[in-house]
Amino acid sequence: MDRREFLQAATTTALLAPALPAWGRRRSIVDYSGLDAVTVADERRPRSTAEVSAAVGDWPGAISVGGGRFSMGGQIAYPESLHLDMRQMSRVLSLDPERRTVRVQAGISWRDLQDALDPHDLSVSIMQSFSNFTVGGSVSVNCHGRYVGRGPLVNSVRALQLVGADGSVLELEPSSEVFRGVFGGYGGLGVVTEVELDLEPNARLRRVVEDVGLETYPTRFRDLAQDHRVVLHNADLRPPDFDAPRMISWLATNSPATVQDRLIPRDRNYARNQAAIWAVSELPGGARLRKAVEERLLKEEVVVWRNYEASLDTDSLEPTTRLFSTYLLQEYFIPVGNFLTFARSMAGILKRHNVNALNVSIRHSPADERSLLSWAPTEVFAFVLYYKQRTTGRAKRHAEAWTRELIDAALNHGGRYYLPYRLHATPSQFARAYPEYAAFQQLKTRLDPQGKFRNMLWDKYL
Ligand SMILES: Cc1cc2nc3c(=O)[nH]c(=O)nc-3n(C[C@H](O)[C@H](O)[C@H](O)COP(=O)(O)OP(=O)(O)OC[C@H]3O[C@@H](n4cnc5c(N)ncnc54)[C@H](O)[C@@H]3O)c2cc1C
Repeated sequence: MDRREFLQAATTTALLAPALPAWGRRRSIVDYSGLDAVTVADERRPRSTAEVSAAVGDWPGAISVGGGRFSMGGQIAYPESLHLDMRQMSRVLSLDPERRTVRVQAGISWRDLQDALDPHDLSVSIMQSFSNFTVGGSVSVNCHGRYVGRGPLVNSVRALQLVGADGSVLELEPSSEVFRGVFGGYGGLGVVTEVELDLEPNARLRRVVEDVGLETYPTRFRDLAQDHRVVLHNADLRPPDFDAPRMISWLATNSPATVQDRLIPRDRNYARNQAAIWAVSELPGGARLRKAVEERLLKEEVVVWRNYEASLDTDSLEPTTRLFSTYLLQEYFIPVGNFLTFARSMAGILKRHNVNALNVSIRHSPADERSLLSWAPTEVFAFVLYYKQRTTGRAKRHAEAWTRELIDAALNHGGRYYLPYRLHATPSQFARAYPEYAAFQQLKTRLDPQGKFRNMLWDKYL
């Protein structure tokens, strides 16, 4: 939907709204990209498992589920569905500092959970690099972060509670087939209502920065990963050549913190970050400006608490408006042995298509043998592409073309792509990337025979 269609739909919705009964108010659900709006029949904000169970049991049609709404291709919505906005289910249910475990309602954000953990000197074990996402949304995509050797979130979840298509409440353990299917299942099997997570000690971390050659990065990473002090790591590739990884690692240390806040304050003002991102992506000398600023900042000695570095806010990336252009992500998971050839192939595609790429961040994950729709069936390097795109129909078609080339490159290197982003992949690319989809579909048919749980992702690919 382009901007004109969006405004039309919004106007129609506003005109219809007074004629509908209170429970039948239609709503537009817009995700982080700001590019699409999906009109749902009703929206509820449950506060308990019982309310989710009643809503699912009573509603005769399609149901869609949303957490933080940071996915970018309609994964949270389906036309004329009942939309469950999970963000009111945000309580910590039990915290056991001795066993280092916590049970939460699935709509809680990592940032809210960090507020509860920090006084106990505990941290989330595995999460994304920003803290705004809900736990349920993170389970459903099987997220990962910069945690060295840890892999996806499934590795730190002890138990789940799921509301099934008939409203029944299931308690799931990691050994169960349904548990395996929920991670990376994008809400297709039911509504995650509670999650029990492993925790780790909060520690002080010292930043270490190192520039290496593209060819030497995999070996240098392997050496680094042997050092038990390394907690977080990523490497940045910058435009226009994407060929000079800058390794940024965070090592456990006893040195005093150079930043006194234990968590990033929620009311921090990001106007300067936003202006800098705009300048880098729009101005002719943007790349030079960025280099100069980064060189200065990265030279500083920084020691922070783990919870501080894990509480980054997506507001720091948010543009002042997404009306004319938007910032998007993509991610490719490549078997470690194919790192170099994929990196070169990716750089060639981005350059050939003049993609306004701000950054490619590299991370690592061991093989994930737990989830059904695993994005890392073998040990992988992840390439996270952050780019800017105009909101016109032409720009969308252009992005679709180069994204399909990148997906082909990933598939030809034995890799996969990540599913929370724009739905540019063709159905055959999806089937090649995730051959386990047939087993997932069978499981879905068994648990949800009427296909109640729907969204734009599963509508396109299942
Ligand atoms: C700036 C930015 C940075 C990111 N960084 C990372 C990163 O470092 N690592 C990474 O892995 N990903 C990253 N992502 C992707 C992010 O992990 C996903 O978009 C994730 O889905 C966000 O969680 P959410 O709560 O917003 O989920 P939503 O977008 O709201 O939902 C995602 C999916 O989960 C389903 N869902 C949500 N809640 C439930 C529930 N309770 N029960 C059942 N289904 C549910 C939805 O139906 C949908 O299909 C990033 C995204 C952005 C925008």
